[in-house]
Amino acid sequence: MPLLTRLMSAAMICCLSALAWADQPGAAGQCPVLDVADDSARHHLMDYVCYHSAEPDDAAHRATSPQELPESLAWTPADGHDLVFSHTQSVYWLKLQLNNSGSTRGLWYLKLDYPLLDEVTFWTSTGNGTSRKLATGDQYPFASRGIDYRYFLLPVTLGAQEPLQVTIRIRSSGALNVPLSLETPAEVIATSNDLTLTHGLFYGALAIFAAFNLLLFFSSRTVYYFYNAFYMGAMGLFLFAMGGFANQYFWPESAGFANTSIPLALGLCALAMTLFGRSFLEVRPDTLANTTLKAQAWFCIVFLALTFILPYNKTIILNTVLALSVIASLLISAGIRWRQGYQPAIWYLLSWMVMLAGALIYALAAFGHLADFLARESLMQVTIGGQVILLNYAMVQRWRLLNQKLLEVEHKARTQLEFKVHERTSQLRNAMRELEKANRKLAALSLNDPLTGLYNRRHLDNILPELCAEARRTGQPLTLALIDADRFKAVNDTWGHGFGDTCLQLIADILSRHVKRPRDIAIRFGGEEFAVLLPGADIEGARKVCQAILDDLRNTPLDTPDGRTLNMTLSAGVAQLATPEDQCALFQRADDALYQAKASGRDRVEIAEPEFSDWGAPATQ
Ligand code: GH3
Ligand code: MG
Ligand code: MG
Repeated sequence: MPLLTRLMSAAMICCLSALAWADQPGAAGQCPVLDVADDSARHHLMDYVCYHSAEPDDAAHRATSPQELPESLAWTPADGHDLVFSHTQSVYWLKLQLNNSGSTRGLWYLKLDYPLLDEVTFWTSTGNGTSRKLATGDQYPFASRGIDYRYFLLPVTLGAQEPLQVTIRIRSSGALNVPLSLETPAEVIATSNDLTLTHGLFYGALAIFAAFNLLLFFSSRTVYYFYNAFYMGAMGLFLFAMGGFANQYFWPESAGFANTSIPLALGLCALAMTLFGRSFLEVRPDTLANTTLKAQAWFCIVFLALTFILPYNKTIILNTVLALSVIASLLISAGIRWRQGYQPAIWYLLSWMVMLAGALIYALAAFGHLADFLARESLMQVTIGGQVILLNYAMVQRWRLLNQKLLEVEHKARTQLEFKVHERTSQLRNAMRELEKANRKLAALSLNDPLTGLYNRRHLDNILPELCAEARRTGQPLTLALIDADRFKAVNDTWGHGFGDTCLQLIADILSRHVKRPRDIAIRFGGEEFAVLLPGADIEGARKVCQAILDDLRNTPLDTPDGRTLNMTLSAGVAQLATPEDQCALFQRADDALYQAKASGRDRVEIAEPEFSDWGAPATQ
């Protein structure tokens, strides 16, 4: 920012000093004859020009030819200064006396490097009284200039020792600049060539930028590219008109439009920069800046319409003020947006600083406060060129920022997605763990007897075929004992079902205590019927276990609900698996043995008789 401020103040100082200098062309002096053969004298043409500014009440104001000028007209020498006048109603008369001291006839051009003059009339009169007149200006068709050139060129042919007086009458409704020079044809061509190159480069670059932005608009549908192209087009048109090219190439026949085109192009520029600025800076809808810019856009449209109604000298002032106020409010808006953290605004701001400095100098010059028109034209081109480059750079920055934001959003979305997937996966894992737990519980529930906690019939049905198959495969013994409570019906009948259940739980406790090897299994497979599976135990081992169970219960007295003591007994039938016996046969034999025990008086263990055995001798041996 300090750099920008310094740049701005430097530009202002330039303007003010130029202003102070430009308004003093009328110092006292003579109006001598210029020897066209003397190149150095010719290069100081303004030392030889005299002028008269005729106010509306002056007789010279009404004069339409040099002959009608009063004899006593007071001519003021230009004294080497360019003639620059602000908006006035005056008519300007200029006088230049030439003489060719050379020995040959020669051709020179009196060149007036300012294309925007309404009426310019040249009269030349030689010593022998021959007089010629050329009436031109942008209120006449372009062909009236005689020579097809955007500036005014008056051919001056002088024989040896021949004098010539040139009188010029200028009337214009805008600002008035009269940069005169007297050049040889070679000098005119050389200057024109140089300018053709710089103008070609400038307008060419502007057209390419505009076309490129239009293409970007059509491919991306981003409207500020269109506004930027519109702005560059309008700015190009404005400079084209100011430089006299538009008159020469666009509307050479429509004399009246030459004046209108300038405030019109200026209004278009103001409109384009407002629209572009508003959209590029992403000015927020509910802000004062937005309201101001919107109002300015409407003003631009109204002022554009006014350029066709009001006279040129009014509309040029209105539209210049409008353009400057648009630039000022865009500068403020850009400053605000930059402070709000919108980075591309700094490049935009810089581009408008450059533009503002250029526009100020240009406006001062166009209203007659600055001299040296050519320098101003190239200055404006440099300014606009700089601005266009900075504006396009600002757009690149904006694009980069958008891209960055897009990447950030994408990254955030991806991270969020990953987080969500992770979260859902762990939720799913937890749910599965819960499900597994529930399943296990369910499986346990379905395999366990709820009253005693022992395995149930389903487990016996599942495990018995497996254990039989394993015993056959490994050759290890497997015994099954079926144990039944003796006269249990009577217990139930005497003390009730609840006491009966307590008795069943006691039997289960005793079974669990005795069935203690890891692979031994105790099962309640019916009402008061139990099974004990003893893998790896032979018939004798199994008998011992059963006997111990029976003894334990018999010796465990139970207090009945009516205060008596009950000693329960059990009967057991034991069978060992014989190959190739299946589980049904094994069960049947154990059941038969149990039946045998019951039949033999209960409270005893009976061993099943095997049909045949793989383990050597039959069980009875
Ligand atoms: P024995 O086996 O000595 O021949 O005589 P028992 O009285 O035990 O024979 P039975 O099979 O006829 O009787 C079994 C009784 O067991 C019948 C029924 O009341 C009882 N019982 C069966 N399941 C349950 C149970 O879950 N709880 C209780 N309290 N009693 C049951
Ligand atoms: Mg029983
Ligand atoms: Mg029974």
